[in-house]
Formats: sequence, C-alpha cells, structure tokens
Amino acid sequence: MTHYKTILPAPVDAGAQATTLGVMGGGQLGRMFVHAAQRLGYFTAVLDPDVASPAGLVSHVHVQTDYLDEQGLAQMLRRCAAITVEFENVPAGALYTLGAHLPAAPDFEAVSTCQDRAREKQHFVACGVPCAPHALIETAEQLAAVPDALLPGILKTARLGYDGKGQIRVATREALAAAWQTLAQAPCVLEQLLPLVFEISVVLARSAHGEIVTLPVQRNLHRDGILAVTTVPAPGVSEALAGQALDAARRIAEGLRYVGVLCVEFFVLDDGLGGLQLVANEMAPRPHNSGHHSIDACDVSQFELQVRCMTGLPLPAPRQHSAAVMLHLLGDLWFDPQGRERTPDWVGVLALPGAHLHLYGKAGARPGRKMGHLTLTAATPEAAQDAALQAAALLGIAPF
Ligand code: ATP
Ligand code: MG
Repeated sequence: MTHYKTILPAPVDAGAQATTLGVMGGGQLGRMFVHAAQRLGYFTAVLDPDVASPAGLVSHVHVQTDYLDEQGLAQMLRRCAAITVEFENVPAGALYTLGAHLPAAPDFEAVSTCQDRAREKQHFVACGVPCAPHALIETAEQLAAVPDALLPGILKTARLGYDGKGQIRVATREALAAAWQTLAQAPCVLEQLLPLVFEISVVLARSAHGEIVTLPVQRNLHRDGILAVTTVPAPGVSEALAGQALDAARRIAEGLRYVGVLCVEFFVLDDGLGGLQLVANEMAPRPHNSGHHSIDACDVSQFELQVRCMTGLPLPAPRQHSAAVMLHLLGDLWFDPQGRERTPDWVGVLALPGAHLHLYGKAGARPGRKMGHLTLTAATPEAAQDAALQAAALLGIAPF
C-alpha cells in the first residue's frame, strides 16, 4: 500500500496514543533505525524471534515471534502506523501480509526482487545498468551448459546469501560441479570472477512521491567477503564516475518504484582504455553497512532517511560535513593472537579526536560477527585516514 499521507509523531500526553513505527528484524540495522525513529519522537515495535536482538533491546515494543507467526504479525498490524525492514531475507509473505494493511517501505515486490540474485541482475539489466557476466544454475543441464568464459568464477546461491556466505570460488568445470553439490544443488548464479580495481556503493532514499536523495559515493574494502572499511569521500572516484554510479542507482530505484532506503554496490573495473568502468554487484533494500558514516559525518543519517521515507516526511538532500573512514568491528577483535578473550582498547580509541564508537549490544563475540563499527571523522580526508589507521593499530585491524 503506497501512502501519500504524512505520519507525524503524535504527542504521548493527553491520552493520545503514540505513533509507532514497526521494523521487521532486530539486528544492528534495526537498532540504529529505532534510535533514529525515537529521536524524532516515534515509538517503535521490532519483530524478531531472538530475545536478545540488538533492536529488540532498545525498542518500546519487542514482538518476539517468528516472522510468519500470525499473532506476531497481528500485533504489528495493531500497533504500527507503517512498516520497514532491516534485512532483505524477511520472509516476503510476512511483508505481503503487513503491506496489505499498512504503508510498507520498501514493499513486498522490491524486497522479493532483492531476495533473489537472478531477479536482481535481470532488474539491473532492464534498467540499463551492466552487471557481471553470469548464468543461472538450477538444473544439471544448466550446469553442463555453462560457458567456459564464466570460469574462473564465483558460484553464489540465488537466495539467502550474505557476507560472502553461500559463495564458492571455482576455477574449473570439475570444481564448479563439486561446489554446486556443496551448496546442496540450490538454485545458484555463477558469476565471472572480475578483476576489481576497487568497490563503491551508493545509498539513496526515495519517497512515495518519487523524490530521490543520495548520500555521497562510498569506497569499500572487503576482507573475506565482509565489508571491512568504508571511506567517504571515495578516493580515486572522479566526479564523472560518481555521477554514473548515482545515476545508475537512481534508475535502479525508479525501476522498482522503490520507497525507502536502498543501497547499490558496484564493482569498479579497468575499461582497458585507461579509464574505469562500473558494474552493479547487488542491492540491499535497507540502510547498509557502508552508509554508517552518515550518522556522524552527514547532517541526515541513512536511518533518519529510512524514517522519513516511511512516514512521508520531507527528504532534504543530505550534506556530508566531515570526511570519514568507517571501520567494521568484527568479533575477531575480542580475541588476542593466542585466541584468548580480551576487551578491545576502547579507551585508546576514544582518545582519538573524531572517534565515534557504535557497539550493537551483542553478548557473544565470535569471529566474523558484526559487533559494532567505529567512524573517524575529520576536517580532511587525510586526517580521517590517519586517525582510522591509528584506531586500526590499537584494535588489531590490519592496515589498509
Ligand atoms: P553482502 O550481502 O554482505 O554484501 P554477499 O554475501 O551478498 O555480501 P557479494 O556482495 O556478492 O556477497 O560478494 C562479497 C564480495 O566478494 C564482494 O564485495 C567482492 O569483494 C567479492 N566478489 C563478489 N562477486 C565477485 C565477482 N564476480 N568478481 C570479483 N569479486 C567478487
Ligand atoms: Mg555484497
């Protein structure tokens, strides 16, 4: 249900019922959404089965049921004025049910497209945005028919992948066949392994009226398939390349008649002519790790944009007021080289000017688990980079 009415935060006094915004999923992205919504005077409801979900812990209401639980969904319908999502794998059926009665930003259609790598790539191509050469593998015949040109490649499950999970790099046809077995013959996409020069992303917000605003282009460094470092402004990105990325992201959002915050990740390749070329990798129907800097380095964060989209509030263009480098804090940092548990040196880190520490309230640190992020802001990109390298050294993050 698209809506054009503005949903304002109602006063809590005088017996009026507070206006409650709902989010499906209680991870860290939901937690930062809750913070942004509450700052604007809304109440929040989080649906997540986990008793200790990071967003559930800080929300006015935590509906602790499965995503498809009828009573859980009924509670969300009763309480909420509008709904959003914090991860793309919220069962589409749940969003379909909620969206039939409440404004949902993004809606069921858009989230369904993002849930499936094959559909996602079709959408990019339909919008005139190139993506990696690829083939769909759902049957043994399709496996046998894969063109040699896609090897070496990366076999990715079409659904439910994240942080490089459900992905296997393959160099030969034999390795490809074995990898498909390992992935339980699930529907997959084989992508050609591209020689990346670097990676960038664009976070945008689109209102129900079709207005679009964007955050500045972000440059991302991944390690082991997980985002490790984001730098903004993006070094090595010319105005022309940034313009192309922003334009491609806008077309992708418009093609979905998307309402909400959307992130599009891009690969940057050598075009063989001394220039750079853009290829869309994937999109996320929600705020994105690479947009976290916006909380501290921009005058409107990606989470506030999410609130504004779902409530029909105005969408002024965000302005980046500080240069920023964001470091992802994975659970690995809670262990010393001998594997003994430790507390990262927060005191040292917080002594650095412009250090903004965000911890997500997760109890158990495990290698690879996203525990928090640290944004270093400064007046110049050089100073932000310098502070980020100092923070990395204190925390045991390899230099970049
Ligand atoms: P997330 O959702 O957390 O971003 P994901 O599991 O969906 O991750 P992808 O974005 O598909 O994974 O891939 C993770 C990383 O692996 C990319 O950011 C890139 O560094 C590398 N990668 C993926 N596909 C390719 C490719 N075709 N060629 C080269 N590198 C790739
Ligand atoms: Mg990705």
